[in-house]
Amino acid sequence: MTDSFIPISKPTIGPRERELVLAALDSGWVSSIGEYIDRFEAEFAKYCGTRYALAVSNGTTALHLAFATLDLKPGDEVIVPDLTFVATANAVAYTGATPVLADVDPDTLCLDPASVRALISPRTKAIVPVHLYGHPADMDALTEIADSHGIAIIEDAAEAHGAEYRGRRVGGLGKCGVFSFYGNKVITTGEGGMLTTDDEAFWQRAKRLRDHAMSPTRRYFHEERGFNYRITNLQAALGVAQLERIGEFLARRAEIMDWYRQVVGVSDSVRLNRVKNWAKSAYWMVCLEVDAFDAERRDEFMRLLKARGIDSRPYFCTMSAMPMYRQKGLPVAGRKADIGLNLPSYFDMTKSDVERIGSEVNDILKSMGVV
Ligand SMILES: *Cc1c(COP(=O)(O)O)cnc(C)c1O
Repeated sequence: MTDSFIPISKPTIGPRERELVLAALDSGWVSSIGEYIDRFEAEFAKYCGTRYALAVSNGTTALHLAFATLDLKPGDEVIVPDLTFVATANAVAYTGATPVLADVDPDTLCLDPASVRALISPRTKAIVPVHLYGHPADMDALTEIADSHGIAIIEDAAEAHGAEYRGRRVGGLGKCGVFSFYGNKVITTGEGGMLTTDDEAFWQRAKRLRDHAMSPTRRYFHEERGFNYRITNLQAALGVAQLERIGEFLARRAEIMDWYRQVVGVSDSVRLNRVKNWAKSAYWMVCLEVDAFDAERRDEFMRLLKARGIDSRPYFCTMSAMPMYRQKGLPVAGRKADIGLNLPSYFDMTKSDVERIGSEVNDILKSMGVV
């Protein structure tokens, strides 16, 4: 048996990444000024079809910078999904505003427009669709709600680089898009993030806040409290190289998903990622949901899988289950958080890796009496 351990994810760093990072290093521009930052921003904006992009230190600071640029303050409300990575809600709370938790659609795992509509109040300042696990949210329905109340949409596209909603790439579908380049994301800069927008004034203000809001006319004078959320030229060099390869990365993710669909014994009650006909998913994560699970049985399944050399991770916990945001749970989000998990997917995976995972998954589900 050559059953080596299969991790959930790993980055793909090739000769082009080495070449550009070493060129950045050799140039002496190691900090937050340098040609790769400008290039990364210009090329990322072009990729998303937006006029502007602003590179920052990570996805969480990108979210916070977007909310700070909107001038959120205590008393303001921002609608976020109950099922997301905690950074979405935390970045709202950093401004003093209140994250208001909405339920998710059972297929897309993204904001349910009906749930959002019911939560709109005079204090609502923004809606944050999270394109969870790479699948875009239902943007037309959400945009209609936002527009009819004069509310901004900030897309959390941290997991969905290159995903499309009705043929349009995410990141350019609201006031501002936010991306992460953490090591396990679709493309990586080690740590890093990006804002995308068509709004020139928004971009200018975000850019100023990224660098301590220094006065453009008087050095070391600061008219308001800004941040150091800059990225380095070294990270941006890695980003430029990764962005060149994003088409290849996304094609492989789709191929891996197809392999999974061929080998995992799915049914109405054992499901892999669902994709709407209006969506192109980035397939950031392979998702498995089993109706016969609860949190305990799901965790047991993951333990058994690990004992056979295959890593996995549970779906995110809901925000409403955490001490900082504790409230009555939302039915779909809560259920999904209990029955869902992610299976391995990364560029170097082979079809035989997926076949091995598929047969172990089927076997364990059978041994647990689930199928
Ligand atoms: C990864 C992620 C973030 C945060 O990005 P970091 O670069 O890790 O700070 C925000 N939102 C979602 C949905 C994410 O998956």
